[in-house]
Amino acid sequence: MKIICIGRNYADHISELKSAIPTEPVIFLKPDTAILLKKQPFFIPEFSNDVHHEVELLVRINKIGKHIDKKFAHKYYDEIGLGIDFTARDLQAELKEKGLPWEKAKAFDGAAVVGNFIKKENFKDINNIEFSLKSNGKTVQKGNSMLMIWKIDALIEYISKYFTLKIGDVIFTGTPAGVGRVEANDILTGFIGETEMFSIKVK
Ligand code: MG
Repeated sequence: MKIICIGRNYADHISELKSAIPTEPVIFLKPDTAILLKKQPFFIPEFSNDVHHEVELLVRINKIGKHIDKKFAHKYYDEIGLGIDFTARDLQAELKEKGLPWEKAKAFDGAAVVGNFIKKENFKDINNIEFSLKSNGKTVQKGNSMLMIWKIDALIEYISKYFTLKIGDVIFTGTPAGVGRVEANDILTGFIGETEMFSIKVK
């Protein structure tokens, strides 16, 4: 399986990082080795002093597809989840400045938290899903899929122009504002609405 991540998909996060609003979705990949194993803590890697949490809605692909039209995109996923796109912000800034790829900052072991999934039919509207992240019990990030610049079906259309989507692939749909540095002993808990989707200890 592969993980396809979308960057800069919420205006409030774009402005907090002082990035430009993109004219097309920003895409990068994480390998399956980036997935943080269930029940394992997240270890801050030794090559970064500034790892940030980015809470994101996830979409799990359940049908193989290429060149998927937006109006049929809903047939290619049946579950929505929540995860964290851990980012070594210091390393990312360095790579960005040099115009180099981001993988070292985004795709390292443990950098993808894939929490629980909820069947799509449990949501009234895919484009109105509230989610949040708490750090040590305090809410630090809050988002709603209605605020995505590119909504889920548009992302699937765009991604599938470049990459064949396969069963089990997961799309990270971008983070809202409130990203921040994680510290050893933090407990990060993610929610869709009131439902807890993951809880991660940082070490
Ligand atoms: Mg992200």
